[in-house]
Amino acid sequence: MSIEFIPNIVDGKAVHVANRERSPVFNPSQGKLIAETPLCGLGELETAVQSAECAYREWSNVPVTSRAKVLFRYWELLQKHSEELSQLITVENGKTLEEARGDVLRGIEVVEFATGMPHLLKGENVPQVARQIDGQTSREPLGVVAGITPFNFPVMVPLWMFPLAIAAGNTFILKPSEKVPHCANRLAELFLEAGLPPGVLNIVHGGQEIVNGICAHPNIRAISFVGSTRVARHVYQLGTSHGKRVQAAGGAKNVLIVMPDADIDSTSRAIIGSAFGCAGQRCMAGSIMMEVGGPIVQERLVEDMNALQLDDTSQNPKAGMGPVIDLASQKRLLQTLDSLDSSVRMVRDGRKQLPKEGFFVGPTLVDNVTPDSRLFQTELFGPALSSMYPRSLEEAIEWQKRLPYGNGGTIFTQSGSAAREFIRQSKCGMVGINVGVPAPMAIFAFSGWDDSFFGDLHVQGTEGVLFYTRQKVVLARWDSDYIRSKGW
Ligand code: NAD
Repeated sequence: MSIEFIPNIVDGKAVHVANRERSPVFNPSQGKLIAETPLCGLGELETAVQSAECAYREWSNVPVTSRAKVLFRYWELLQKHSEELSQLITVENGKTLEEARGDVLRGIEVVEFATGMPHLLKGENVPQVARQIDGQTSREPLGVVAGITPFNFPVMVPLWMFPLAIAAGNTFILKPSEKVPHCANRLAELFLEAGLPPGVLNIVHGGQEIVNGICAHPNIRAISFVGSTRVARHVYQLGTSHGKRVQAAGGAKNVLIVMPDADIDSTSRAIIGSAFGCAGQRCMAGSIMMEVGGPIVQERLVEDMNALQLDDTSQNPKAGMGPVIDLASQKRLLQTLDSLDSSVRMVRDGRKQLPKEGFFVGPTLVDNVTPDSRLFQTELFGPALSSMYPRSLEEAIEWQKRLPYGNGGTIFTQSGSAAREFIRQSKCGMVGINVGVPAPMAIFAFSGWDDSFFGDLHVQGTEGVLFYTRQKVVLARWDSDYIRSKGW
């Protein structure tokens, strides 16, 4: 089988890069090499920045209503190609077809939101704010901005960024994860087909060198980053030290609190989706289950876990669970499970009965985890759920507060007061009430706290619009005596 070489997309064209190191792209279900991503350097970045700068002069002057029309056409094309994009995700990321459809759908919703840019950019106006003076505000684009994205949502996360930035009048450079380059390129091709002028969206593939280059480039005004906490903190520190606006979303460890009155069926279903959906590779995955007072849902959960069918997601649209992204992730997870000591109890062991091919880890449940353990504190990013037994809701919330992260947390209960207490006291930015993955829709910001987010303005929603624009305040004096002096 021939290996595909992934091109950059710069100035509206596919650009093949020679003489650069390449990073392998696998079909994780099969463990097979399918393509290679070029690890570009500062030269390729410079060409893309120049193209984006040149395109900015024209694009920032295109009326916002006309820019929105390109977004409408893009929305239509994304709908038309949604199944193709979903298939592409299953091949290079490994999540199931159903999960891939969700990835695409949630991304399209951001484009839908971005088509409202004429409304979103409306400023404020106070006539006669002082004698003969009117005051008004407007929001202006920043210039060339950049996005750096992770492997786990190859369509949705890039779409969190560039549609809003571009609709607001910026031009964009996207550095996708080197592990899932096909989706990003296809997203750019479809945007060009929708009528986006060349240079407004450029894709430059690579790794650390490009990321550091973006952080230091004098003509890139802002950076959106989504990925692990280690790199998010680095990008935030390096980018801001170069005077850039940075929003950097990091990793997470999210709790699922089960109250004694939780509905067993729906709670188990929601936990299955939260902990094992996308093979646990979601920043909103529930990775710590806290059953208040003792086991409540565990027995049902294990039955439901046993029913999950691991299979090649690129071939079987009905596969229940896919693999993790690569061999390194698979090894890291299996070694973590191998290294657990006798203080914990393996209720369901995901190391057993794995498919022969591919980077699979089965759904795993580890019981009796304590809040001071490494398992509790560390993001595993795989299908391994820790189980704990706080004596009360208060203790569950106290344990949650010991986590360095602050993305999501969910409570399963029939009690309004327990839910209200959790909303008020929980230490995280996105709360679920009987919702396994409380990831906000495109109209809301994706509101991580603490080590899950560095910056002020989050991605998505109106915060996303504020991030990609800056405010101008105008005070205008037009003297009415002038009209009279002219005899008008
Ligand atoms: P990652 O941090 O390894 O990579 C993210 C991006 O940074 C990639 O484009 C990668 O090429 C680049 N990168 C990697 N190492 C780098 C380095 N040393 N210097 C500079 N750039 C580097 O993340 P990943 O493994 O692709 O994605 C999984 C992580 O992303 C998880 O921690 C997950 O929780 C997080 N994530 C967070 C959110 C959120 O909204 N908070 C959403 C999705 C994923």
